[in-house]
Amino acid sequence: MEQELTYKKVGIIGCGASGGFASVLLSKNPYINVFAFDVNNPFSTLLPTGGGRCNLSYDEDDISEFVKNYPRGSKFLLSVFSKFDKEKTINLFNDLSIKTYVQEDKRIFPVSDSSKQLINELNKHLKTNNFKHIKQNVSEIEKKDGRFIVKTSDNEFEFEYLIISTGGKGRGLEFARKLGHNIISPVPSLCALDIKEKYLYNLSGLSFKNVEIKINNKKYPICTGDVLFTHNSVSGPCIFKVSALCAFDDFNEQNPLELNLRLTDFTYEEIEKIIKTNSKKTIKNVFSKTAPESYINEIIKINNIDGEKQTAQMNRKEKEIMIKSVTELKIHAVSRKKGSEIVSAGGIDLNEINPKTMESKLVKGLYFIGEILNIDGYTGGFNLQNCWSTAYNAYYAVSS
Ligand SMILES: Cc1cc2nc3c(=O)[nH]c(=O)nc-3n(C[C@H](O)[C@H](O)[C@H](O)COP(=O)(O)OP(=O)(O)OC[C@H]3O[C@@H](n4cnc5c(N)ncnc54)[C@H](O)[C@@H]3O)c2cc1C
Repeated sequence: MEQELTYKKVGIIGCGASGGFASVLLSKNPYINVFAFDVNNPFSTLLPTGGGRCNLSYDEDDISEFVKNYPRGSKFLLSVFSKFDKEKTINLFNDLSIKTYVQEDKRIFPVSDSSKQLINELNKHLKTNNFKHIKQNVSEIEKKDGRFIVKTSDNEFEFEYLIISTGGKGRGLEFARKLGHNIISPVPSLCALDIKEKYLYNLSGLSFKNVEIKINNKKYPICTGDVLFTHNSVSGPCIFKVSALCAFDDFNEQNPLELNLRLTDFTYEEIEKIIKTNSKKTIKNVFSKTAPESYINEIIKINNIDGEKQTAQMNRKEKEIMIKSVTELKIHAVSRKKGSEIVSAGGIDLNEINPKTMESKLVKGLYFIGEILNIDGYTGGFNLQNCWSTAYNAYYAVSS
């Protein structure tokens, strides 16, 4: 009997990235019985991450720099990471026999370069007697006499500790609201943006490296990164940053989001010089040195410019059109591309959560981890790092 009292029974609602990681850590403790609820297999949400390679973190040691990559939650994460940061995460993955490597752009991947293999490796750690996967979704949660009653369609369970990790889209937010929490209504972030400029639709498939984007009429920082033109929208890391910064802004056909794109490394003045020193060369030839040829051809066509004439013969207006098309292309985003979002912004109000333990300040024994929190990062491994660190802090608090 005495022995039984030392056991802890922990319920985990949602066994994706954060819930799965918390399950692995908690079930290493023989005095904890873990019950993870999820209709899907543990960690299956990791499968599409990083294009099937799982970009699991980012190689930045300074946590005050690291948190700059979260439009929401950076202050809270400073405290979360002070307990368990990227370095400790990588060491822990190593201890779990999962080796990682840093790519040139500082993104971190498993050595296997395969999310499928990573999922298999993580699942090996769940093959213990004190971990049980209940392959059902939770339909209701109640708190009664200091314990949590968790209901599925055909069963009822009781726990003294409960971790909610249903991600940005699961029903966890509804459960949290019922338990008295304030929710910032989730909106899509890290998504492609539909644009007004029909002539650019012809560029579908074309990508630009190191683009700089200024969001006009807003006080947001300049975004940099690659941009990809798709059918009627723009996508890629730089656009994802824009979409993250503007996640809570309204924009539409009547009131579009105006973006200025610098598609080239050259300044306006530098291109003027290039034109002068290449006065005998064709417009097409000279401008193709500043941006991809197919783009330049499109700009020439849409503006009825003769691309075969020498740059010396360009009139002032043509020169301005051509230079601005690469140094400050103006586009107008009218909507977020439906279903393209990678994460949700919004979630559980961070004022109600202790960042060192992830425990609710309102309900004792209740913990929130991962994307369900009002935390979202840019692409680059930041969203998963939030999952690993918040999962660790909850594990540490529950098991101490
Ligand atoms: C295509 C794609 C690529 C991505 N690539 C990367 C990347 O490379 N790097 C990166 O850092 N981030 C990436 N992300 C984001 C990252 O995957 C998420 O931020 C992360 O998975 C969130 O983890 P989580 O544990 O909070 O929720 P999830 O991993 O979404 O897990 C939530 C789990 O809860 C379960 N659930 C929901 N409701 C219930 C319920 N009522 N009862 C029981 N279970 C429930 C769901 O079935 C799910 O398994 C990517 C996202 C997408 C969509």
